[in-house]
Amino acid sequence: MRSYVGNSSSGGQCLDDPPPDVAARELQRESMRKQVRSDPAEFRELCARLARWPIITDGDVQSVASYLRKGPTSVIDPDRGVSRQLLREFQDALGLSRRYGITFNSATNALHAAYRAVGVGPGIKVAAIGYTFHATVTPALDLGGDVILMDVDPTTGNLTFDVVRRTLEMNREIRVVALNHNWGVPCQDIARIARLLKRLRVPLIEDCSHAHGASVNGESVGTHGTVSVFSLQSKKLVPAGEGGLCYTDDPSLKSAMLLVGHYFASRESHVVQVDDSVRQTGVGGLQCRMHPLAAALALSQLQRLSTVIRNRRLNDEFFRKLVADVPCIVFPEWPDGTRVSHYGCRAAYDPAANGDIPIAQFVDVLRRLGVPVEHDLGGPLSRKAIYQQNVDSPISRFAPDRHRYTDDDLPGAAEFCRRSLVFPVFSRNPLIMADVLEVIAEQIHAALSEGAYGC
Ligand SMILES: *Cc1c(COP(=O)(O)O)cnc(C)c1O
Repeated sequence: MRSYVGNSSSGGQCLDDPPPDVAARELQRESMRKQVRSDPAEFRELCARLARWPIITDGDVQSVASYLRKGPTSVIDPDRGVSRQLLREFQDALGLSRRYGITFNSATNALHAAYRAVGVGPGIKVAAIGYTFHATVTPALDLGGDVILMDVDPTTGNLTFDVVRRTLEMNREIRVVALNHNWGVPCQDIARIARLLKRLRVPLIEDCSHAHGASVNGESVGTHGTVSVFSLQSKKLVPAGEGGLCYTDDPSLKSAMLLVGHYFASRESHVVQVDDSVRQTGVGGLQCRMHPLAAALALSQLQRLSTVIRNRRLNDEFFRKLVADVPCIVFPEWPDGTRVSHYGCRAAYDPAANGDIPIAQFVDVLRRLGVPVEHDLGGPLSRKAIYQQNVDSPISRFAPDRHRYTDDDLPGAAEFCRRSLVFPVFSRNPLIMADVLEVIAEQIHAALSEGAYGC
């Protein structure tokens, strides 16, 4: 197969250097120690520069520029050109072997197409994870679906098999299930959930937007969804600026998704019988194609995915070691056989191990000492207005009699957020980051020593 984006990307090295706006002397341990005491906010800002994402290397710039010179700058058929190359190389990088893929201009649009393809429409019941980025679920609401939000495990933030089974038992009309692997920690029960749903003939929409490269027992995320979707938006692990990929093994779903947003233009569209009247045009009224320059950037970034995850993992492991003696900060442990993508870096705060000081106050003290940490102010989807009220918007076509929620629903998700300490994720070489992490850890220890609370 012709390669549309070369291997010229040598930009991997860039992860081995500090960012261009961080001078080597700023990273000397003594100067960081001085800074964190004299100007803690400035030290947190230094950490933000070190954690900045995405990282665009010279290799990325070259890859995109060289594609731009060659073109084409529009790829109509997602099974051709740079789109085809991206779909294949992405699968190879993750160890996936799904039969069909489609590129989209965003994961939101890919999810929208997936929900339409599996038949979500007015009144259709969709059981969805109740804690995730809203775009996992909003397309189902938009299509008129009746969304039943499922609570997550308060320690992992993910869905469990038992909750899915119970939800389906209590509501036999559920036609679709949707989940996300939150913060890059793969849902431990994904294989069991997928088996159950297969038996019940309920399609699974698997949102993998946090978890490129994560796996459970050797099975990559994206293996089990009836449709599995990945975002390539800038924050994500393979940043293309904007973009989304989706995979399925079902030819009729591929065809249906092509009808939604690609005018049915695909050389693989023959796999399913579709009436000639729709074959000419598609019927979705949307055009959701990925920009080929975004695909070129994604291909270049993809070559660093394993390095990025490795750096994030090593930095995470080192930081955990440095604060392992701090009883009130509890990092999650993952069962053997679990590989996380390190999309986020979260620990649980245990106030009982810190004199019952509330998390907000603890975070405040840490930040005043220069520790780059935040308290998760998010919460379950059930706290968002569209899940509680009738929304009055010029475009709403939400089902009027759909499920509604209150602030007290989904206590597991609320607890997960309430006790989450959110630390930055560092993708650069651990050799650059070691001293920085040590200074952060020193400040955490300082916060726990007497007097830090001014009482
Ligand atoms: C980012 C994200 C999306 C949306 O992705 P876009 O490509 O920005 O549309 C959907 N789901 C989850 C879990 C995400 O994190």
